[in-house]
Amino acid sequence: MSDKPSPASSAVTDLTNCLFCKIAAGQIPSRKVYEDGQIVAFHDINPWAPVHFLMIPKVHINSMAQLGPEHEPLIGRMMALAPRLALEQGCRPYPEGGFRIVTNTGVEGGQEVHHLHLHVMGGPRPWLRG
Ligand code: AMP
Ligand code: ZN
Repeated sequence: MSDKPSPASSAVTDLTNCLFCKIAAGQIPSRKVYEDGQIVAFHDINPWAPVHFLMIPKVHINSMAQLGPEHEPLIGRMMALAPRLALEQGCRPYPEGGFRIVTNTGVEGGQEVHHLHLHVMGGPRPWLRG
């Protein structure tokens, strides 16, 4: 049997070395579009769409897979805030415009940064991806 960590365990972030915790704390620069006591939103460094920002909770949660009932108010706030930020960032109004929210969860879900985040994407098509 190999000592190598499985892809799943090696993907889980060392909390002290979490990129998005550092962005939330202002230790790594980002182009922030919103911040309050619980939530930060910032432009994705590698956008797939004309509008592409990420929304994160300031508290470290690895992914959607870790959510429990205690997180309902926080996730509800993030989802209810997304439409306002999408409009502010240049998405056209529903129904002609709109936006897409994606949350990759786990390795097979395509998650690369293991701090829960919503991708909010929009703007005129075609997009690079998504
Ligand atoms: P995911 O694959 O869902 O974990 O998405 C991670 C996202 O984080 C990708 O879209 C990256 O482009 C984005 N990203 C990585 N590093 C940074 C950074 N320093 N600032 C902003 N976005 C980043
Ligand atoms: Zn984190």
